[in-house]
Amino acid sequence: MYLGIDIGGTNTKLGIADGAGNLVLEASFRTTAYAGAPQFLKALDGEIHRMLTLHPGRLAGVGIGAPSANYKSGKIENAANLGWNGDLDIKAHLEASLGCTVLVTNDANLPAIGEMTYGAAQGIRNFITVSLGTGLGCGVVCNGQLVGGHHGMAGELGHALVDGNERKCGCGRKGCLETYASATGIRRTAFELLSKHNGGYSELADFSFAKITAESITQAALEGDEVAIQAFEITGEVLGKKLVDVLCLIDPEAIFLVGGLAQAGELLLAPTRTALNKHRLNHNNYDIPIKSSVIPLDRLSLLGACGLISSYNQSSAAHEKYRTI
Ligand SMILES: [Zn+2]
Repeated sequence: MYLGIDIGGTNTKLGIADGAGNLVLEASFRTTAYAGAPQFLKALDGEIHRMLTLHPGRLAGVGIGAPSANYKSGKIENAANLGWNGDLDIKAHLEASLGCTVLVTNDANLPAIGEMTYGAAQGIRNFITVSLGTGLGCGVVCNGQLVGGHHGMAGELGHALVDGNERKCGCGRKGCLETYASATGIRRTAFELLSKHNGGYSELADFSFAKITAESITQAALEGDEVAIQAFEITGEVLGKKLVDVLCLIDPEAIFLVGGLAQAGELLLAPTRTALNKHRLNHNNYDIPIKSSVIPLDRLSLLGACGLISSYNQSSAAHEKYRTI
């Protein structure tokens, strides 16, 4: 059996999968509840021990996704997103305590690995996954192989700049795509629309900014709320237009949207598709499918972490595609 770990800025999720990719046990705890990396590692060790007691068996390896994680060094490097300073050598730590191989990758790659190993991207050699969560993460697969780039920064689509966008981003700049195309971004759009239309007729006007969620906007849109529907249209328009740049750069066979916002289905897919088709090069008339992933993001990421390590154990050829280029 394999252990997959997805270390996020808010929660750390763990899953034990069997050889066929079925998650048989899952757990999670708050990443931010610890003063520093040593305390976090202690909590992680405790959680792994608890899971292995609940589900005993031979652990064949561990796959980990984390922000700023480097496949080559096995470290989480300068994990400012996790509130820690310096590097965390998580591979060395867990290999010593568990006695099995541990591999790490950037967490933005996990959904792409999950789709490639167990999902709809099996057999597709050129695609991207766009994860719409708190921010926007992107996994890029070219010619059957994950792309990391020279500095491991490939796929930072969330921080690609959008024309005329004055919104401030968490990265310190203005105008990034994720200030629109993310769960946080659509909340900002909904609030802008509410202020423009003086609230009034929208059911979203009853929410404070802290209480409104992507789910409440989705629900309101499904019930025909015009502000919520317009918020999705604006999000799709901005995202679809930016995806044209992706088409120009890597010519993918498919684009998978993942995460809570993507679960809104056609509410987001339709305006994204419309914008993509409106702005793309018009002499390329082939279809580029934009699909929402059927596997929820949490699960897909855990499956990706398990897929990273299970392929490594199968053969070097099977694993080659997860070695980022
Ligand atoms: Zn940014």
